[in-house]
Amino acid sequence: MTDLEQRRRAVAERLAGFKIDALVVSSPANVRYLSDYSGSNGLLVITPGESHFFTDPRYQLEASQKITCKVHVAKGPLIVAAAAILKRKKLKKIGFESAWVHYELYARFKDALPLGFALHPVGRVIEEQRMVKSPVEIERIRASVRINSEAYSRTMRNIRPRLREREIAAELEFQMRLLGAEKASFDTIVAAGVHSALPHAQPGAHRLAENELLLVDMGSSVEGYASDMTRVSYAGEAPKRVRDVYKAVLEANLAAIDAVRPGIAAGKVDAAARNVLKAHKLDRAFVHSTGHGLGLEIHEMPRIGKAEKTQLRAGMAITIEPGAYLEDLGGVRIEDTVLVTAEGCEVLTPTSKEFVNF
Ligand code: ZN
Ligand code: ZN
Repeated sequence: MTDLEQRRRAVAERLAGFKIDALVVSSPANVRYLSDYSGSNGLLVITPGESHFFTDPRYQLEASQKITCKVHVAKGPLIVAAAAILKRKKLKKIGFESAWVHYELYARFKDALPLGFALHPVGRVIEEQRMVKSPVEIERIRASVRINSEAYSRTMRNIRPRLREREIAAELEFQMRLLGAEKASFDTIVAAGVHSALPHAQPGAHRLAENELLLVDMGSSVEGYASDMTRVSYAGEAPKRVRDVYKAVLEANLAAIDAVRPGIAAGKVDAAARNVLKAHKLDRAFVHSTGHGLGLEIHEMPRIGKAEKTQLRAGMAITIEPGAYLEDLGGVRIEDTVLVTAEGCEVLTPTSKEFVNF
């Protein structure tokens, strides 16, 4: 059985537990996870016996070549075609992904089903399954991390003051594509000086100046899989205060990585980072959670945040990214992509965490 068939089988085996006869999958990342389809209009119906894939005529050829379950090419709305199959097979209790079905889609679906058929919202069933990565997925994440770090180091070789944030962002994305990434896994963040105090700054026209922090948060997408890394450097000789903040954030990053192992609650990993920053009186400057899962999407389960009870398992790919953001000084975040292993964890990101002053 292929990886994809195994994934669909695993979903099918859980249907009874949700008291449903079939599950309609409409989240693009979940459709991709279960079918390898990465176009813009695909839908899956998983039943205990078989799976059905729906798309429109634009993707007919691609689907016939690569989809390994029953393919239906629909001229109208896919959900109506899916309803017709469910009707024919008399699968009356139909689960749908409540986080992914908007009201219009729901209404259209309901209208297309006869009386006696009922729609049941289910939570993030497939997202849960996606938390633990298969060996193939882990290989893709490794490749993504490698390309991402190489694009960073190639770009940083030529970094100098006077470059605009958006020029640096463009160079990073150009390099990752040259190295084989399909695209960036999210909009590259390049923030210089006090802009770095905004955790999700957008690169703008600002020119990097002497004596400024430079924060780069970037990820590549390789065969659909994301990487995520943040590094901070300094144009010139960093003053003591900046070096102290950097040191504290690095200590928090290492403490969290040290805590990562199977069986630990994600909240404990978050606490490991938070406690270090607290000891340095920087906990109030740490305004987000310590990390997140990643894979086909840049933000996946589990969330590595306060009081998060999900237990880490071998095969999970997560980020560890504590930060401290000070309005007058700027922000420091140090982020790695980390794989949970049977023994503990492996930091996949190869880029050095030494504080670079260029
Ligand atoms: Zn990031
Ligand atoms: Zn991240």
